[in-house]
Amino acid sequence: MIDTFRHKGLRKKLVKELSSKGITNENILKAINNIPRHLFMDNAFIDFAYQDKAFPIGSGQTISQPYTVAFQTQLLEIKSNEKVLEIGTGSGYQAAVLTILNADVYTIERQKDLFKKTKSFLPSLGYNCMFVYGDGYKGLENFAPFDKILLTCGAPFIPEALIKQLKVGGKMVAPIGDGDTQVMHLIEKTSNSTHSITTHGEFSFVPMLINKNNGN
Ligand code: SAH
Repeated sequence: MIDTFRHKGLRKKLVKELSSKGITNENILKAINNIPRHLFMDNAFIDFAYQDKAFPIGSGQTISQPYTVAFQTQLLEIKSNEKVLEIGTGSGYQAAVLTILNADVYTIERQKDLFKKTKSFLPSLGYNCMFVYGDGYKGLENFAPFDKILLTCGAPFIPEALIKQLKVGGKMVAPIGDGDTQVMHLIEKTSNSTHSITTHGEFSFVPMLINKNNGN
């Protein structure tokens, strides 16, 4: 599968659309302009890949809507070399955006098939990060603390273990809610025992599932 002028043109249009919807961070817009999103989808549906929509990626999961990816990333204010933990690797698209922003990315997925597929696919496009098969509710204690943590699935509550694994001064972006929609939360860790929360509108995510037999 290749990246053609048509794909590149469609990407430019998508970037314009995201910018008109309020994404102002130039580095994020550049990342989206660079990443061949059609290659992240099962049959390279060119007519869908550059619409601002979520799309099924197999195993009952979806690749997030580009606006949502950009919005969450913008809230996180990623800086070069920051250590970032993503919960919900999925297709790897969000992880690719974080990698282009020069973050040191750790990403966890609980679905084995998706984990395996994305772990081999993403580096083949030149995006390198640490792939972990496991339970996002537990985070990655061995690699903590993180500058930033990003949940790309809707959690019924803010996972306590993840706040613990955040640096003081660090930020976590998490869609919270167990219905059809979630409220975007920005959690900033203000000291070892305190954090502040602001909310940033409603979104719709696949649920963050609780593992019965944990992978990590
Ligand atoms: N970031 C992804 C979006 C994937 S959708 C992308 O850019 O494509 C959310 C993902 O979260 C799904 O792949 C789902 O399997 C995963 N997920 C759900 N509950 C989880 C949990 N407890 N731990 C880790 N991953 C989880």
